[in-house]
Amino acid sequence: MIAIATLAKHVVDLCDAFGVGLEIDKQLAPDGARAMTQSYQPDAAKKVRVHPIIDETTYCVALHEIGHCVSPTGMMFFEWSLSMRLFRQPTSVRDIRIALEMEDAAWMWAKHYALEWTPLMQNTAAMCLATYTREARRVLGTGGLPR
Ligand SMILES: [Zn+2]
Repeated sequence: MIAIATLAKHVVDLCDAFGVGLEIDKQLAPDGARAMTQSYQPDAAKKVRVHPIIDETTYCVALHEIGHCVSPTGMMFFEWSLSMRLFRQPTSVRDIRIALEMEDAAWMWAKHYALEWTPLMQNTAAMCLATYTREARRVLGTGGLPR
């Protein structure tokens, strides 16, 4: 396992390299990380708010949030319905498929750029994706999922 200080520096370096703003929030719950954009335009300035990197989980979640900002399909809010953009209430299968695509893209980006991808990071990714898949099943029923 790579030293935590190295992982923390890697998050800073990736944000610098990809032009993503970085806000490290010690008050943030470890699972409260977010990727944000100034507008719904694809070229809008983007930033991530993450918990300090203290372990593998906070590292892979930070990379996931950076992935939302820089992966070509990581942040397709502009494709969502107005209801989904404003209230995160999906109104169509399309809204949900786009959300799942964004999550997949951000996790693939995180895995690709990680200095090391550990089983714990893989489990974290799977657990996070499962929350979106569960929500999709709740809204769409079992038959409407793309996978
Ligand atoms: Zn995500």
